[in-house]
Amino acid sequence: MAELPNLPVCIRVQPAGLAIMNRGDKMDANWQRLVELLCRSQKLLIFTGAGISTASGIPDFRGPGGVWTRFRPVTWQEFLASHQARVAHWEYKLEGWTKFRDARPNAAHQAVVQLEQAGKVLLVVTQNIDGLHQMAGTSPEKLVELHGTNRWIECVRCGRRCAPEPVFEEFRQTRQPPRCFCGGWLKPATISFGQSLRPEDLEKAWEGARACDAVVALGSSLSVYPAADIPLMAARRGVPYAVINRGPTEHDGRPEVTLRLEGDVSVLFPETVRAALGPEAQTPPPTLH
Ligand SMILES: [Zn+2]
Repeated sequence: MAELPNLPVCIRVQPAGLAIMNRGDKMDANWQRLVELLCRSQKLLIFTGAGISTASGIPDFRGPGGVWTRFRPVTWQEFLASHQARVAHWEYKLEGWTKFRDARPNAAHQAVVQLEQAGKVLLVVTQNIDGLHQMAGTSPEKLVELHGTNRWIECVRCGRRCAPEPVFEEFRQTRQPPRCFCGGWLKPATISFGQSLRPEDLEKAWEGARACDAVVALGSSLSVYPAADIPLMAARRGVPYAVINRGPTEHDGRPEVTLRLEGDVSVLFPETVRAALGPEAQTPPPTLH
């Protein structure tokens, strides 16, 4: 197990953190260590997955009743090759669209913003396509959306981006795959199965993994690669690695994991950040677009 590095000690008093120490079981000892980790870190790499957004009403694609139990995901190659596949992809995206459109950030997204405002965040790397980190107020230059975003529609030929609402409306009426002015196919700006991650996003995430002083994975089963390699890459440099998730993760039991907390990140993480930053940390108002 990696030890906490010799970082500057926290200069803030932590009343909430002290209170939690009285609970006295292993979970709380780990929780206290996580508070300490956040307190000491000045260059956090925060890695997030679906579990951070379930409290915002974003459906779990893979769970029971999730859209992937009724729609087989269309691969990138199928989307490019077949009219039928393009229609199927748009049908699938249309079904989920209103939930994405109406979702708002929750306390965990806001806690990430509070850490950034306290000068502790090097980079936020998310697997999520819901745009909620940015909506909560995470700075775009500190955010990598590895699997793209549902908040934009993109042309697969010229790369032009446009707002989703009119394009979904067009598809709702015509049931024909929408096209760009250049003749290319339009597609929500998410990374499909079989599609390469954007090299600039991967490079920025790797850079974060090379430069961070601690890494925290929030709400991810850490089972989708290459995304899940990013926190591991950081941990292999010897920096502390904390995993908070409800349910098992692929990194459980690995020697790189310093701390493992089981639970709902939308409850656990804001409590941890409050304890690390002190009571003066304010909840930022969400930025609505
Ligand atoms: Zn185009």
